[in-house]
Amino acid sequence: MENDLAISEIFYSLQGEGTHSGLPTVFIRLQGCNLKCSWCDTAFAQNIIDFEQFEDLSNGGSFPCKIRISDLLDRIKKYKTNLVCITGGEPLLQESVYLLITELCNAKYTVLIETNGSLPINKIDERAIKIVDFKCPSSSMTNYNDYKNIGYLTKKDEMKFVIENRADYLWAKDLINTYNLEKKVFAILFSPVFSKIDLKELAAWILQDGLPVRLQIQLHKIIWGENERGV
Ligand code: SF4
Repeated sequence: MENDLAISEIFYSLQGEGTHSGLPTVFIRLQGCNLKCSWCDTAFAQNIIDFEQFEDLSNGGSFPCKIRISDLLDRIKKYKTNLVCITGGEPLLQESVYLLITELCNAKYTVLIETNGSLPINKIDERAIKIVDFKCPSSSMTNYNDYKNIGYLTKKDEMKFVIENRADYLWAKDLINTYNLEKKVFAILFSPVFSKIDLKELAAWILQDGLPVRLQIQLHKIIWGENERGV
């Protein structure tokens, strides 16, 4: 259905990552992903289920479900924030997401769109803030990075690298230098795979190299625990 979206979950919490970290945020997690990262922490949102099998949330269905954009906008209005984060899964797999982003921008929300960088980002409403998560080697998904997307980034966007080990760190550092990313985006985020890498060691590498990146630790996992859903 053109204006329906397959949704994994909708929830209200503190933004746990990026430069909006700590702010009350409504999260819309879209169902389905085209990748399978080795350390994925939202595997429940990976499966692309036949859309027609989904129940309609508007008719009392439960998650995962489908929902009309107009109903989704009505739901979002009930939360006390103007910050909306669209995530996944991979949200750009669903064509209706572009309309959702535009409708949210029209309604004066600040819209964050998190994408894995494998699909073109040039159709996203320019008022939204893109957070592009290029995949480092430990994900086993590096071959899917679409480097043309670097040309579509703006100075309000963010680039994120999930770092599991020294090889990931060196790979990200090389990409930052090769594409002069510091000049292209508002922030470059280094996000350690939770409890997999020594944070002091990662901090020391960044300081030693003077990399223009922000080390960010997933705030929601520190507050509510690593495996808690809907936070
Ligand atoms: S792109 Fe995101 S949702 Fe998809 S497998 Fe990787 S971490 Fe999981």
